[in-house]
Amino acid sequence: MENKLRLEIVTPYGSVFSDEVDEITAAGSEGEFGVFPQHAPFITMLKTGMLMCKQGSSTLIFFVSGGYAEVGPDKVVILGDSAEKSEDIDIERAKAAMQRAEERLKKIDNIDFGRATAALERATIRIQVAQKLSPK
Ligand code: ATP
Repeated sequence: MENKLRLEIVTPYGSVFSDEVDEITAAGSEGEFGVFPQHAPFITMLKTGMLMCKQGSSTLIFFVSGGYAEVGPDKVVILGDSAEKSEDIDIERAKAAMQRAEERLKKIDNIDFGRATAALERATIRIQVAQKLSPK
């Protein structure tokens, strides 16, 4: 359909979403970008962040961690490291992950700083997306 986009959100854990939508906004590594049907093709890396799409009168919100987006005129494929629809986010799990990452970051030696920082970022943004607050 000319005025629709197929959005596929795929992760190593499985397919998270596959349907026709009207408009997509996502967190690219170079900044937020919007896609309407008939957009010129491009590929971009993604930041850990929120993906929003309009489907008729509804707005669907997802958490997407990393990966990349492949944009075509009638299809957007999101290959994320992990992704969840906002209402599927387990806030208690994200809070526990946040606490674990914060504890790890307090220890000066023998930590994988990058890994703990990335885990903290995922947990923080999951909580924001679950509460539908736009991450910075
Ligand atoms: P955790 O330490 O809680 O596993 P994580 O950030 O390390 O968090 P990921 O590696 O991003 O987790 O994801 C692993 C799998 O668990 C994915 O399928 C992801 O969708 C799911 N997942 C992780 N955290 C949550 C959450 N808070 N709510 C729902 N699903 C989650």
